[in-house]
Amino acid sequence: MSVLEAKHVRKVFKEEKNETLALDDVNFTVENGEFVLLVGPSGCGKSTMLRIIAGLEHATSGEVIFEGKPITQPNPKISMVFQLFGLLPWKTAEENVEVPLEILGFQKKERAEAAKSYLKMVHLEGFENTYPHDLSGGMKQRVGIARALALKPDILLMDEPFSSLDELTAKTLRDLTLSIWRKKDEPPDSILMVSHNVEEAVYIADRVIVMSGRPGHVVGDVKIDIPRPRSEHIRDPIYFHFVDEVMEMLNVGSEKR
Ligand code: ADP
Repeated sequence: MSVLEAKHVRKVFKEEKNETLALDDVNFTVENGEFVLLVGPSGCGKSTMLRIIAGLEHATSGEVIFEGKPITQPNPKISMVFQLFGLLPWKTAEENVEVPLEILGFQKKERAEAAKSYLKMVHLEGFENTYPHDLSGGMKQRVGIARALALKPDILLMDEPFSSLDELTAKTLRDLTLSIWRKKDEPPDSILMVSHNVEEAVYIADRVIVMSGRPGHVVGDVKIDIPRPRSEHIRDPIYFHFVDEVMEMLNVGSEKR
């Protein structure tokens, strides 16, 4: 069953006399339990699509169905990890994780307990009282992940979460995210991640949805049939086969536009 279904999503940004068609008839699904990567060139509307799913932006036409109902506003069962972390600099790591719980009305004791346990899950024990400016990029993103997990989302949205990190840190956080997702008795069931990195997509995803350049439109949907852990297969021909297949779709998609 689909947890999420984008149906004919179109988005036009209007600014004074200028109109930008960012998304043009975007259709895709995320099934329950799936880890899906949405890839496409810069500016093709990937972030816009995630923001519509998060209820932070409205589609001009079309709709996104979440667990059977159209999304009209933010929903705590859908949480988001941002490219540039989105931490509040005047709050400690623990206080940052507490922010969405505070908005939802959780009491201090419960918030603090949840924040500690999710910071532990992302291996940040001992950094609860540290402020963002004393954390590395990778550690900031661990806080961002803990904050999103604390909402116990059914689906986690991740907007280029590792693209501002060095490759070694990015790899560690990819594996951490995979291990969190694979714990089937704990949220989130499903993850939808945006990336412009095809190798990252093939490393992580059950399925890669390929978008063309602006206006964003789905040009491919590829099931990645490589056993996990994929770190054991990154030199196998099958890995390169999938990277090539997705690359080819990206190239054809951008030539047609
Ligand atoms: P991506 O995430 O794939 O890089 P974005 O979703 O950020 O793409 O942007 C898609 C297009 O929509 C771009 O041309 C961008 O300039 C435009 N856009 C995004 N947000 C806004 C906005 N708030 N106002 C006007 N144009 C926007």
